[in-house]
Amino acid sequence: MKRLSIGVRLMLWYVAIFAMGELIFGASMWLILRHNLYDIVDDSLESQMEDLGSFLQAQKKDATAAKLQEEVNETYAIEHSGDYLQLHLETGDLIYRASFLEAHPSLLMPPDQINRPKFRSRYAAGKHFRFTFQKMQANGHTYTVEMGVPADDAVETLNLFRSYLLMFAPGLLLVAAVVGYWMSRRALAPVDALVQTARAIGGANLNSRLQKLETGDELQRLSDTLNEMLDRIEIAFLRVTQFTADASHELRTPVSLIRTEAELALRRSRSEAEYKESLRHILLEAERTTTLIEQLLALARADSGRETLHMQPVDLRQTLGSVSDAWRQVATIRDLQFSASIDDPDAFVMGDEAMLRRLTDILLDNAFKYTPSPGAVRLGLEQKDESAVITVQDSGVGIAPEDQSKIFERFYRVDKARSRAQGGTGLGLAIAQWIVTQHRGTIAVESRPGEGSTFRVDLPKIAAPVQNAQPA
Ligand code: ADP
Repeated sequence: MKRLSIGVRLMLWYVAIFAMGELIFGASMWLILRHNLYDIVDDSLESQMEDLGSFLQAQKKDATAAKLQEEVNETYAIEHSGDYLQLHLETGDLIYRASFLEAHPSLLMPPDQINRPKFRSRYAAGKHFRFTFQKMQANGHTYTVEMGVPADDAVETLNLFRSYLLMFAPGLLLVAAVVGYWMSRRALAPVDALVQTARAIGGANLNSRLQKLETGDELQRLSDTLNEMLDRIEIAFLRVTQFTADASHELRTPVSLIRTEAELALRRSRSEAEYKESLRHILLEAERTTTLIEQLLALARADSGRETLHMQPVDLRQTLGSVSDAWRQVATIRDLQFSASIDDPDAFVMGDEAMLRRLTDILLDNAFKYTPSPGAVRLGLEQKDESAVITVQDSGVGIAPEDQSKIFERFYRVDKARSRAQGGTGLGLAIAQWIVTQHRGTIAVESRPGEGSTFRVDLPKIAAPVQNAQPA
């Protein structure tokens, strides 16, 4: 079932609460009015009772029941106050009973059940009455009196009041519904405005923002939050667009180099040595392109969250040990000094070993790329209270302070030609930073142009896992 709009729901709530209030108010007013009207009728009953009391008091003390019957009959048969009167002596002798009560005994109570004074509403022959049932002492006798008065006027007034209530209630509810709907529309009008603007925002106009509300309430918070979200989406969107543009640009360079090389080679016949040379160039560019594509894929996987890391306790000493072995040979070929100081006791971190290797490879690769011979590269592993620190230090070209914060950006290269000549893509440090972040670590650089650079990676340490005892 389609859910009702918030505006309609608010209106319905408003009407329901209003109806409830109206009901409680109407019922209370009706009860109060009834109580007051019956009080008036009961007062007149009381005064008739007082008259009856004086009358009985005036009777002779030793009058017999028959005599009393005669006296009461004489007076009350013609009095209005005798129209609904029944009187018994304590002996049970009936002294007087109005003819109406003969015809409608249901109005009465059995005399032996009458103790304390009671006032009751009664209905018979299409008429409403208030009756009182009480004992009365007069002149040495105890009488049981049952006396009524018509209460039609009071009941009619009550009924009239009720019909007025019922007559006005629907009108009031209608007014409540209209006012409720108007109020909810007014309160929610800014939401409609937000929806309209939000609908119009798409990829082509991501820089548009929702109208800034100054209502100081939840709606202002909502519009501010949505605008902040749009800021983040726009930044992410621009990053993706920029990344795609940069990636296409980067890919175009090696492909056009390969093409030019092949075209030149084919322009006229060449010696075998020249063909080999051309093919070597083509192969080099193809390898570079492969690296670039692999790095692009790695970043794309990282961005999409599809790159899953296999976290487990990793002994950094072992990992760095094997990485440094591989780089020793490179150092010899490039005529650079390479040293590794990773003799610290076990430095365990929670991590993905392959990723940590890749991270170290990227930093060492850069150190070797940007350190001309003769120079030195040093790989270090230290331990702090809470972290294991990997350092890669070189005595190379260094990085100017203004570039130090930018080198972790994708495709940022201080010296593009130099980076390309060294086989760089401008993506290495971006990948390194992603790996470090995934390991809840930090990466920082310290460098002076012409003196060298030190990259420092801090990773949170864990306790060395307990080795299972080998069965003897
Ligand atoms: P690249 O593939 O170009 O090396 P990186 O993302 O790994 O890309 O590095 C970005 C830039 O940072 C490099 O182009 C280089 O200018 C600079 N850089 C990185 N490491 C070093 C270093 N050890 N010494 C000097 N410059 C460096």
